[in-house]
Amino acid sequence: AKERGRANWVRYAWGMERPASAHARLGGDLRRALDAGEFRIVYQPIVSLGDGEIVGVEALVRWEHPERGLVSPADFIPAAERTGLIVPLGRWVLRETCRQAAAWIAEFGPDVLDKAAPNVSVRQLHDPDFVADVAAALADSGLPANRLVLELTESAVLRGQHVSQVLHELHDMGVRLALDDFGTGESSLSLLRAFPAAIVKLDKSFVDGIELDEPDTPAADARQAVARAVAQLADALGLDTVAEGIESQEQADRLLRLGYHVGQGYHLGRPMPPGQLTELLAARRVK
Ligand code: C2E
Ligand code: CA
Ligand code: CA
Ligand code: CA
Repeated sequence: AKERGRANWVRYAWGMERPASAHARLGGDLRRALDAGEFRIVYQPIVSLGDGEIVGVEALVRWEHPERGLVSPADFIPAAERTGLIVPLGRWVLRETCRQAAAWIAEFGPDVLDKAAPNVSVRQLHDPDFVADVAAALADSGLPANRLVLELTESAVLRGQHVSQVLHELHDMGVRLALDDFGTGESSLSLLRAFPAAIVKLDKSFVDGIELDEPDTPAADARQAVARAVAQLADALGLDTVAEGIESQEQADRLLRLGYHVGQGYHLGRPMPPGQLTELLAARRVK
């Protein structure tokens, strides 16, 4: 019964109607986990669709809980954001990603990784030390600034003057900024004018079903139209693109024809522990 209670608690502890004490408890658990070194980073290859070459990695955090096993970020990132623990956790992910990327570049040469991309939460952008933390992570690891890509969501970026200044400072340092989950927000287009983005990541929801070509599935046609329009817009604005959530060769082929040269997804490579990615980088290709 205890196990069951625990699992239920895990499942809905972060729902909207939990008492504050549950949040406090989870916040404490996350803090403890960070101090105990229970977080891990898995790396998902970002791949050139034309030739299968790895061009980058996205860093995705995992929680290796001593009893629950691997916990997915969907189950703790929202709580980490709410409790503010995302700031030290995100700082750790940033530093560790820079260190690992610099090690890969040292081992395999400067061309092996064009980008290493951790995710950055809006709470981090509001942390007064964030820009200095990024600079320190680069300096301490030796990773060149232009190899670091910070993935941000539209909602994070749409937070006014302070965030805008932070993003421009990062841009001026040579760090690249990627707009994550592109197309799912409400003001994607106007945002692109104000934001010093280098990369847009086409959201998986436009990739799902994009390979379908039946006349009676207008939804598939709409996805193709959106995907094509985003590729053309990015091209016109001088931005790179990454298509996310590619699960089949048919999708990869279709995206290539719609104007995408780079993609990410289970078909091209799952998120994996660093040792496994080292082996792939040694071979340079995913297929
Ligand atoms: P995201 O940034 O959009 O990351 C992509 C998610 O899609 C990852 O889930 C990845 O494992 C998954 N994915 C990749 N390819 C495929 C595919 O072909 N099919 C399917 N079904 N899924 C695919 P993950 O690792 O569970 O992360 C979920 C979200 O949690 C991320 O979405 C990101 O928003 C957040 N997250 C993960 N790590 C961090 C972190 O270190 N910091 C912050 N702030 N957020 C993080
Ligand atoms: Ca991301
Ligand atoms: Ca995404
Ligand atoms: Ca997402």
